[in-house]
Formats: sequence, C-alpha cells, structure tokens
Amino acid sequence: MPDIRALLEQTRALLTGHFRLTSGLHSPNYVQCAKLLEHPRNAQAIGEALAARIHAEKIVAPALGGVIIGYTVAAALDVPFVFTERKDGEMTLRRGFQIGDGEKIVIVEDVVTTGKSTRETADVIARHGGVVTGFASILNRSGKANPFDLPYEALLTLDLQTYDPNACPLCAQGVPIDSPGSRFTR
Ligand code: ZN
Repeated sequence: MPDIRALLEQTRALLTGHFRLTSGLHSPNYVQCAKLLEHPRNAQAIGEALAARIHAEKIVAPALGGVIIGYTVAAALDVPFVFTERKDGEMTLRRGFQIGDGEKIVIVEDVVTTGKSTRETADVIARHGGVVTGFASILNRSGKANPFDLPYEALLTLDLQTYDPNACPLCAQGVPIDSPGSRFTR
C-alpha cells in the first residue's frame, strides 16, 4: 500500500493557512487531493489500495472531488463507475448514467469531512433503486472512526483541526480566508 502521509508531503497536497472547507467549517489546514492524485501513478496505486478493501458492482462518487479516485478504484475492481453532480445545489445523477435495481454500490470520496455530500449521493442512489453497501475515502478527517451508518474504509485518518465559522480563532484574528475547494472551478 502506498504511504499516503508521505505522498501528501511529496505532492504538497497538505496546505496550511485559513480555509473554508466545502462543508462550511473553517480550518488551518486544507488537503488538496487533486494534487495527491495529480500523477496517474499515484491515483492508480491509491485506487488499488482502496479497491482491495471493497466489494461492489458499481462505484459512485460525487463530482468533482470523488471522480478521479472513484474512477481508479472502479478500474482496479473492473466494475463500472458513474458520478453524481450538483445541479442548482441539488445532488443529481445526469448524463444518462443509470443505477440498476438492487445494484450493490460503494460510494468513494477523496476526503470525508462531515460526510454531507457522500450522504446526499447515497440518497440519489437509493432514489434510483440502488443499494449502498458502504463508503470509502482516501482520507478521513471527520473526527470519527466512522461517521456513517454503513461500513466505511479510509486509507488514512487525519486529525486536522476544524472550527465552526462562528467560533474560528483565525477569523477572530482577521486572517484572510481562502476557499481552495472551489477556487479553481469557478
Ligand atoms: Zn475562520
């Protein structure tokens, strides 16, 4: 299995500063998984390591963060991969992607923080008749061993500080905030 912690440093995917996470929480750290997965060799090795812990008939990931790792996990398992995406703020399945009735699905993410988008993806799959059998991510920074009510696999647990926006010491100090997750997609 690849040394994820070493790879985070090598690829400079772990940033320090003042960040607004996709979840809305503030943090002095941000993990830019796109950098961790920038080299296909890394994406493939990490995908294989995660795939070794998963059984699924199809992999589903929420766009954009989960797409690369979801794809490489599915490639390692030799199963199809589809992604969900937000349309007017609502998580949806588009592009003609289908979920089979009773199809066993594992949802793959790059990072799980609150697990909100992962749960929204699970709701989409349920509405289409699929059966979510578990969750997997490269990094778990949820602060819990398993923030879900189904089996969950993560390759590395990161105990990084997060703050409620109303009680953020960096905000109190007037440190400018950055939203790295969305910065390059606007
Ligand atoms: Zn803040």
